[in-house]
Amino acid sequence: QKGQIRVQTENIFPIIKKFLYSEHEIFLRELISNATDATQKLKTLSSIGEAKGDLGELRIDIAIDAAEKTLTITDRGVGMTSEEVDKYINQVAFSGAEEFLNKYKDANIIGHFGLGFYSAFMVSEKVEIFTKSFREDTKGVYWSCDGSPEYELYEIDKDDRGTKIVLHINEESKEFLEADRVRGILERFCRFQAVPIFFEDKQINNTNPIWVRKPSELTTEDYQNFYKELYPYGETPLFWIHLNVDYPFNLTGVLYFPKIKQSYEIQKDKIQLYSNQVFVTDEVKDIVPEFLMLLHGVIDSPDIPLNVSRSYLQGDPNVKKINAHITKKVADKLDEIFRNNRTEFEEKWDSLGLFVKYGMMTDEKFLDKANKFLVMQDAREGKFYTLEEYKMATETLQKNKDGKQVIIYTTDPVQQDAYIQACNAKGYIVVKLETIVDAAFINNMEMKWEGVHFVRVDSDIVDNIIDKQEGNESVLSKEETEQLKTMFTKDVHNLHVTVEVKGLSPETAPVIATRPEFMRRMKDMGAVGGGMASFY
Ligand code: ADP
Ligand code: MG
Repeated sequence: QKGQIRVQTENIFPIIKKFLYSEHEIFLRELISNATDATQKLKTLSSIGEAKGDLGELRIDIAIDAAEKTLTITDRGVGMTSEEVDKYINQVAFSGAEEFLNKYKDANIIGHFGLGFYSAFMVSEKVEIFTKSFREDTKGVYWSCDGSPEYELYEIDKDDRGTKIVLHINEESKEFLEADRVRGILERFCRFQAVPIFFEDKQINNTNPIWVRKPSELTTEDYQNFYKELYPYGETPLFWIHLNVDYPFNLTGVLYFPKIKQSYEIQKDKIQLYSNQVFVTDEVKDIVPEFLMLLHGVIDSPDIPLNVSRSYLQGDPNVKKINAHITKKVADKLDEIFRNNRTEFEEKWDSLGLFVKYGMMTDEKFLDKANKFLVMQDAREGKFYTLEEYKMATETLQKNKDGKQVIIYTTDPVQQDAYIQACNAKGYIVVKLETIVDAAFINNMEMKWEGVHFVRVDSDIVDNIIDKQEGNESVLSKEETEQLKTMFTKDVHNLHVTVEVKGLSPETAPVIATRPEFMRRMKDMGAVGGGMASFY
């Protein structure tokens, strides 16, 4: 049979090339996914008795022939009859250039999402298919097309079941005849595909990654090893969450909490998105809530629509549900560790805190849950308080004039040590809120935590707002006190500093200089570019 491919424009291939300029390499992912699909279909058919006999070794082979300038993908899957080639290759993919263009006109998605079989023409001057269906009494089929709308299709003698696709690599795409280049692509896209893939006689994939296995079968070591497999240079993660949902959508995956020592070490875009074990992207923005992008790991869902634009993704009900589900799972896991193993939780707070605070600022549902497990650490004693515990411990002492709970914090326990000591001497609890996210966190929580007011330890209001304790005798005479006041105020009046000579013991701090909280915050916000912004 000879025929003409049914397209409305003269030739669809220039369009494919034009629209797929960015990531040509995805052709390999597409062809291998087809080979995988064909193999999985065969397994299913065999399990219900429709495919007879021994299936033999089910594997996919990739081979380069540099002399012939070909790249070949061979599978042992269901194969195709000539009717099927006509239906699936000739008709379906060429159902019309117009439709094609409408479907793929959002250039952003091109490069991330494939075009199926025809992406082969991005890199080939000619594509050949040799295939034989698993069905009994069918002949082998040969199909070829050189990028013009004409194709050839005829029967051939072929003994073995399955499909062989031969790409005659074009001049501009010679790179795909280099073993290193091909291996690199295979490792990126096919690392966890479900059917063994061989290149140069070596299997390149792990067909049974932990996220498809049962949590009950897995050990701590398994999870840690898998983390190493994903991020060879990463430090051991703090802990992980195994996701497994089958209703109302399908989602599996493992999310890891990385160790974060410094906020500048935070790396986003560490989560990889898969669809049925086929790598899709590691740009999970809009699919995963922003604060969860600090996590690492893998999410696999056949229900995330991959062939649509990102703006559409945000509004997609499945994506929203997936977001909500992941957020809930993460909050539940943190809550569980907090309740069952608080010591471990507190030990990891340095890394966790950043993540929890970021989540509380950006996600209401997460905030609700995190209110119970957010902890603040005492600046000198190291004891951790939840919001509730802090309130309980300070309630009578630390109320401001409006009856609001005052949380006294330090941004620098060393520099502000004198103030901290002074506060401690009065029985106040000073907590550390010193990371880069804390400035934004404090402002944000003042809006969200009703009846709570934050005051920095060196602020003038610490003393003004809280009922003064009587009975502390000054170590200085009245005259000395006045002298000191004048001296300090003269030097620092530009900074809105108030000098008070306190009735404290000489070992601690007989003189305290404070600055209004409001003035300081204004300055800090200017200096750090608005808190949140600098955190990004
Ligand atoms: P999709 O995979 O989204 O269906 P493709 O353009 O990648 O679209 O493939 C079109 C169809 O061609 C497939 O659905 C399948 O029926 C058939 N096909 C492609 N490759 C193979 C293969 N290796 N073995 C069997 N059938 C295949
Ligand atoms: Mg496909």
